[in-house]
Amino acid sequence: MSIQQNLLDIKSTLPKHVTLVAVSKTKPVPDLMEAYNAGQRVFGENKIQEMVEKWEQMPKDIEWHMIGHVQTNKVKFMTPFVSLIHGVDSLKLLEEINKQASKNNRVIDCLLQIHIAEEESKFGLDEEELSALLASPTFKEMKNIRIVGLMGMATFTDNQDQIKKEFSHLKSVFDGLQSLQTANCKLQTVSMGMSGDYQLAIACGSTMVRIGSSIFGGR
Ligand SMILES: *Cc1c(COP(=O)(O)O)cnc(C)c1O
Repeated sequence: MSIQQNLLDIKSTLPKHVTLVAVSKTKPVPDLMEAYNAGQRVFGENKIQEMVEKWEQMPKDIEWHMIGHVQTNKVKFMTPFVSLIHGVDSLKLLEEINKQASKNNRVIDCLLQIHIAEEESKFGLDEEELSALLASPTFKEMKNIRIVGLMGMATFTDNQDQIKKEFSHLKSVFDGLQSLQTANCKLQTVSMGMSGDYQLAIACGSTMVRIGSSIFGGR
């Protein structure tokens, strides 16, 4: 199957309100261009250096999403162009994004990553940390970032009930924050679902799916 065909097949199954992030990490530029030529404009990468290299080589109407864990000292390399940062999980990181965005005269959209999986290894905020972050004066004063939603990754398991429970949990945290709409916090996006579980994620309320291997093949 071609990348173009994979992409069209997946797109035909997605409801209109769901954004497809084509996760192109580790794949070469010609593969990404095949998706681009089939109409795809939103790409997700998990390493800043790799994203910068691809951004330099590819057409400039692409929206680049950083979906991986972000190291504070590397934020500055992507702030000139990144469209959405999915994995924000600390005030410290948010402060650095705000600072670098300000230097670039930009307001950068971010998602807060919430820890929904059973595994300890996955990054993300728990609910207490989330509340503390949103309530902090430091956050409220930030003018160059905007929190536009939440992101989560389910446990790596075949147990559909468990995955469903975790996705539903993220959606309920999102719903619980709807009253909190401020200048730099406008929650509208729930980023959840990958190749193996995106249909379930959409059924649980996802508005943004991050799909890699089903489009580009295994890594
Ligand atoms: C790699 C990755 C994906 C895509 O995974 P696939 O199973 O290839 O679809 C989605 N989200 C994140 C955070 C990833 O790192």
